[in-house]
Amino acid sequence: MNKAKILLIVCDGMGDLPVKELGGKTPLEAAKKPNMDKMAAAGKTGTMHVLGKGVIPESDSAHLTLFGYDLKKHYVGRGPFEALGLGINLKHGDIAFRSNFATAGQDLTILDRRAGRIENCTELAKRLDNTRIRGVHFLVKPGTEHRAAVVMSGHGLSDKISDGDPHSAGEKALEIRPLNKSQEAKFTAEVLNEFLRNAHTILDSHPLNLERVQKGLPPANYLLVRGAGEMKKVPSLKERFGLRACCIAGAGLYKGVAAFVGMDLFEVKGATGTPQTDIKAKIARAVKELEHFEYVFVHIKGCDIFGHDGKCIEKKKFIEKIDSALAPLLGLKDALVIVTADHSTPCSQKNHSADPVPVLFYRVGMKAGRAKGFGETACRKGALGVFSGSDLMKLALKEAGRA
Ligand code: ZN
Ligand code: ZN
Repeated sequence: MNKAKILLIVCDGMGDLPVKELGGKTPLEAAKKPNMDKMAAAGKTGTMHVLGKGVIPESDSAHLTLFGYDLKKHYVGRGPFEALGLGINLKHGDIAFRSNFATAGQDLTILDRRAGRIENCTELAKRLDNTRIRGVHFLVKPGTEHRAAVVMSGHGLSDKISDGDPHSAGEKALEIRPLNKSQEAKFTAEVLNEFLRNAHTILDSHPLNLERVQKGLPPANYLLVRGAGEMKKVPSLKERFGLRACCIAGAGLYKGVAAFVGMDLFEVKGATGTPQTDIKAKIARAVKELEHFEYVFVHIKGCDIFGHDGKCIEKKKFIEKIDSALAPLLGLKDALVIVTADHSTPCSQKNHSADPVPVLFYRVGMKAGRAKGFGETACRKGALGVFSGSDLMKLALKEAGRA
């Protein structure tokens, strides 16, 4: 067979456990999903322990692993991924944070961690962006609602510093502390504390916040930073595997991990990273981009959200929505389609779990593994066997004739 391109579709948190309400089936098993079942029957299935047996994955680590990267060598932390996902061009050595605009009282007690879920913080971020303290440059870029990314650039910085976010309202914003005895960590903590104090003063008297207070809304007058990480440049998928790669995702974190490994990012209208997302539009765009790229990654978030909310019926229905969007893939030529999840988010646990996830490989004309449908139980007997997420890229390259 010819070399195939690779289309990786990650249904975030799709894996689950049997639930009573669904007659002892998982949401995936209970879902009507003729397309996935056909692909499984004509392709090969397996079971994947994404970060190895017994490890509960976070989405960023899981995705980096599925893309074929070694976490010990290449993981840089949530901050850089979120910043990259907002389109920030991080340089090697930059320190990046996730951040919330929050409401702080006079003694810096956090009254609302999300500033009443302020709709837009573009103007406030702009006011803080592009400032300099003791030779360190600060960049502040708005995300959705109350979210933002903060980046520090300069010499002698370290990501070995603590978070500023107390993680619950009613507590004081935390002073940033160095986490080791290095001069760099001490310096970074000092400069960041100074920046946060200044930011509070500026934000507190910003016209937009004065207006909010007048309307009885909580002012967005403090920046809570967390997840410090130092950006490292890593070899791209092109450099490592010869794959020109692109990403079609709605949510920032996934775009960030994709950008980190050198994928091009595409915006698709209607791709929101929420259960209302336009999956058909995403798949159509993916098929189109397979003409230009050897590796296309599509991220679909909805299942994870329903898992966290414990809504198994909605999760099942969302899987049916995904399935109907996959119909055009049945006749796709010269492409290996992979459908899987980055972890399980069982509705009964409302959280990620270490349970392995089902995987399917499908390519028109491939030697079928005689799978009986696509689901957590059926995939345990699949031809791909039980494997680790760190082997997914290897297996994909082999099946695509690129090993
Ligand atoms: Zn996830
Ligand atoms: Zn989750």
